[in-house]
Amino acid sequence: MKRRDFIKTSAIGLAAPSAVFGKTKIKTNKNNPIILSTWDHGLPANEAGLISFQNGGNAMDAAEAGARIPEADITITTVGFGGLPDKQGNVTLDACVMDSTGNAGSVAFLQNIKHPVSVARKVMEETKHVMLVGEGARQFALSQGFEEMDLLTDESKAAWEKWKKKQREMTPHETHDTISVLAQDKNGDLAGACTTSGWAYKMHGRVGDCPIIGAGLFVDNEIGCAAATGLGEEVIKTTGSFLVVELMRQGYDPTAACEEALNRVIKRHNGNPDFQIAYIAIRKDGKIGSACIKWSFEYALARGGVNKLYKIKGLL
Ligand code: ASP
Repeated sequence: MKRRDFIKTSAIGLAAPSAVFGKTKIKTNKNNPIILSTWDHGLPANEAGLISFQNGGNAMDAAEAGARIPEADITITTVGFGGLPDKQGNVTLDACVMDSTGNAGSVAFLQNIKHPVSVARKVMEETKHVMLVGEGARQFALSQGFEEMDLLTDESKAAWEKWKKKQREMTPHETHDTISVLAQDKNGDLAGACTTSGWAYKMHGRVGDCPIIGAGLFVDNEIGCAAATGLGEEVIKTTGSFLVVELMRQGYDPTAACEEALNRVIKRHNGNPDFQIAYIAIRKDGKIGSACIKWSFEYALARGGVNKLYKIKGLL
């Protein structure tokens, strides 16, 4: 019970749509849109999300618009175009989306397509499936009008060639920074998107947590949404984002839910993991939360006309 922090809602407040969670009810945050993203590239991502809201977009539109910004930015070497390649020099991308209806779409090990998050959305909206991988995902993207292009920039190629000389195994927190974007629109609906080039110089074929629904991202429109960044293998083993949302359902405060999900990982590693994982979460009432295992983590929060970066310290 230590970390539980039940929310007090007044009887008057319950006139608005509410969801039962824990032992109380939670009010829906309305007319106060929120965009919450990982890392400092979350700031421009949030800006794009806000523009989408201004143009009448819903939470899914805003999350996708946000995720597309770092995907297209060649200076960001952890996402999309310009992302660092695998051991063999191939840029392979993972992404997913989940909307307020509980629908989801995902692509993994996708090559030569600049906006995997938008392909993931097409998987969600245009197919009966949730996940497409590799060559099948690429062919599907082409059939949907996406253009093929070489995603390895001169800079990322040079970095890979330098790395190839020594082939030092990268520690998981080096050059790793997935963009996850969570959004709540004016109706209080929730959605999220997650996109990454994954672990730099990974094994060919490696897929991380980002495209795995429940690991890299989870949305439950009654309760809240959560997303991850960091060592994907460990997020997958603990179904991290689903766990954060389920803990919020049980009454955990969003930050406490993120912390408890990380505590499970810390315990598995005898209290001393040598890697980073961070979670971000939005609860249905608009309360946001975040936590990371060690060092520090930054998230970008856009709300009420302010888009700002916040730094938090690790649990260890
Ligand atoms: N979670 C991503 C992966 O494991 C990378 C990251 O966020 O740092 O592929």
